Amino acid sequence: MTRLPDGSRGTALVTGASRGIGAATALRCAAAGWVVAVNYRQDAAAAASVVEAIRSAGGSAQAVQADLTDDAQVVALFEQLDERLPPLTALVNNAGVVDVAARVDELSAQRVRRMFEANVFGAFSCAREAVRRMSTRHGGTGGAIVNVSSAAARLGSAGQYVDYAAAKAAIDTFTLGLAQEVAGEGVRVNGVRPGIIDTGIHASGGQPDRAWRLASTVPLARPGTAEEIAAAIVWLLSDDASYATGAVLDVSGGR
Ligand code: NAP
Repeated sequence: MTRLPDGSRGTALVTGASRGIGAATALRCAAAGWVVAVNYRQDAAAAASVVEAIRSAGGSAQAVQADLTDDAQVVALFEQLDERLPPLTALVNNAGVVDVAARVDELSAQRVRRMFEANVFGAFSCAREAVRRMSTRHGGTGGAIVNVSSAAARLGSAGQYVDYAAAKAAIDTFTLGLAQEVAGEGVRVNGVRPGIIDTGIHASGGQPDRAWRLASTVPLARPGTAEEIAAAIVWLLSDDASYATGAVLDVSGGR
């Protein structure tokens, strides 16, 4: 269950929630009754504006800084949650990065390592800490985890970022295996594979127009919105999805 024994929601940690899909997910979690921990790496002002938007809509949230590629910072982040917020019942492993378009024969080892550190290692560290708190094996009362993957995991992203696509494929397998490990301990684990979503991530990969440029390759003929991904994530977190675990849901306009 993603509720505490007293019926309250507890805390949802959304990683990379200072903008884009994470920010939309944080807002929707708050509207559904969770106290939201809004994680960010460097953009404190953007995280503060997400917290402000949640509070002005009547919700409860706190910004929590941590670079999730550093395991010690992940441990410290969860210790902060333990001290300051209600018990954790939900984790959204959303933080992720892309890089500029390049072929595999152009990729430096350093870049590939960075892709896996940011997109995979951080999610493992966060899930470990979350399971230690939510699993009945560890004295918790249960919860739910949603890992944000990408349609790139099944498309391969040739000529763009095969390293990113491969890291997201690792997330899909991680979702499946972890779901099986903790299914008997009150914790559900699912994934969402967004397609081309209109957020700032494309500008960070040097292609600010990418979402609309590729719209014609999408059967629904448009990019998705952060809110459309957030809706799927929060449904998977909710008790409406109580029989879903180990699932990875494509929300990609048919692409
Ligand atoms: P975005 O707008 O670029 O936001 C990324 C967020 O992740 C930011 O809040 C950023 O924080 C945070 N972040 C990055 N590295 C971090 C780290 N090491 N530690 C903590 N936070 C970190 O991205 P988005 O488009 O919303 O994407 C969210 C997720 O969806 C990602 O996993 C992405 O791969 C996935 N996705 C996106 C699309 C798409 O088309 N947009 C498609 C498929 C999958 P700071 O700003 O503070 O650095």
